Amino acid sequence: MMQKNELVKVKIEDIGVGGEGIGKVDGYTLFIKDAIIGDVVEAKVMKAKKNYGYARLMNVLTPSEDRVEEVVCPMARKCGGCQIQEMKYPAQLAFKESKVRGNLERIGEVPGELLDEIMHPVVGMDEEGMQPFRYRNKAQFPIGTDKDGRVTAGFYAGRTHSIIGNTDCVLGVEVNEEILNCILDFMEEFEIPAYDEVKHKGLVRHVLLRYGFKTDEIMVCLVINGKTIPHCHDLVGRLRQIPGMTSITLSSNTAKTNVIMGDTIRLLWGQEFITDYIGEIKYQISPLSFYQVNPVQTEKLYGLALDYAGLTGNETVWDLYCGIGTISLFLAQKAKFVRGVEIVPAAIENAKENAKLNGLENTEFFVGKAEEVLPREYKKNGVYADVIVVDPPRKGCDETLLETMIEMNPERIVYVSCDSATLARDLKYLCARGYELRKVCPVDQFGMTVHVETVVLLSQQKPDDTIEIDLDLDELDATSA
Ligand code: SAH
Repeated sequence: MMQKNELVKVKIEDIGVGGEGIGKVDGYTLFIKDAIIGDVVEAKVMKAKKNYGYARLMNVLTPSEDRVEEVVCPMARKCGGCQIQEMKYPAQLAFKESKVRGNLERIGEVPGELLDEIMHPVVGMDEEGMQPFRYRNKAQFPIGTDKDGRVTAGFYAGRTHSIIGNTDCVLGVEVNEEILNCILDFMEEFEIPAYDEVKHKGLVRHVLLRYGFKTDEIMVCLVINGKTIPHCHDLVGRLRQIPGMTSITLSSNTAKTNVIMGDTIRLLWGQEFITDYIGEIKYQISPLSFYQVNPVQTEKLYGLALDYAGLTGNETVWDLYCGIGTISLFLAQKAKFVRGVEIVPAAIENAKENAKLNGLENTEFFVGKAEEVLPREYKKNGVYADVIVVDPPRKGCDETLLETMIEMNPERIVYVSCDSATLARDLKYLCARGYELRKVCPVDQFGMTVHVETVVLLSQQKPDDTIEIDLDLDELDATSA
């Protein structure tokens, strides 16, 4: 066993699911954040348990071949947003691919030989030797007060709620900094207090920013612990000078909670939404709606989902967890009819509007929990599906939902997942009940982080899928003779 504060020299041999380096000293396992496979590092033991411990990276003695020369963001180690910025992009992709594969094998019990056959290599961003940055169309900055009493915007330090001032996150668009400085200057000038999470006092909690990559439209939504902002008119006057400003709104959140957004939105200036395109389809996005954060990769992801759905124009499709109808409308271009279900009412309003906007009227959208709406529509109203697409949040699908899907018995199921562990769990359920895994493709939507999106295709196991046996008739004759 190690002692706390002990300094050790470790060769990093493995990587954990959170991106942390793993190495051994005399058989004792140490987890070291910011160290990567191939590094030899000096680390200080911070927490020592019986069989393993956590250590802090002090010095990289011999850098790994996969280590970048210089990390782009000076805050990378402190900030909880990026976990693997120190790793070259091809190594990040390899890590993600093996993470998906590992989860499917271990949790999903998918045989390795099958994955060798059906798993596509991870689809990364095309950056030609560069690290991909500035890919995010959305940022949520917490607002707080620094130790000198000045209002600040930034990020939570990893695993904590203390705010590290940083208005230029390199994953986001450059204009974010200008917008944040405009808001912070305004707060400073009119002495508008930032929210204090511990005391549950103060006003401005968060700033949500969205940027339409294809339209250059900007959305600003201030989340406040109250109903109004004093001198609001002045703030709007400043913000609207920023080129591209399209939507300025307030969301009131007076609850003592970690949830960022309030339930409602109040328009301050412009319109309540911005518009953006994925492929040919135009989407209106409001502050409360989910929208994929990496539009370039999303186009590839949806392209795959559409391809896997195998539509010919005659199919009835369900898109579960549909958000603003992004995948639904992609599918509606090629299907007979698409039904979407989503829990956030504002997102469904967007979805209906988006269907009209694109002239895709072969769609119907439902507000509610997928695990309640689908069984209801199936059992009471007799709806069916040739293809079901699911795109749940990290916790995956509710078992009631999977059960109904099995009962509905669609030809194909396309599962889009942002957490390969829950994906694997759900695949195991479906594959034990008549479905067969046909295709798997990880897509990197979140460079510099450990997160990875995966899209898979399942189809009904057909009786004619049974193993072919070559009967040797001569041999048969011989034995029967
Ligand atoms: N398919 C969409 C959204 C995927 S994100 C897209 O690609 O843009 C997952 C969505 O599921 C979110 O919009 C979230 O609000 C919604 N959601 C979460 N739990 C849900 C549930 N139980 N039933 C239906 N929708 C849910």
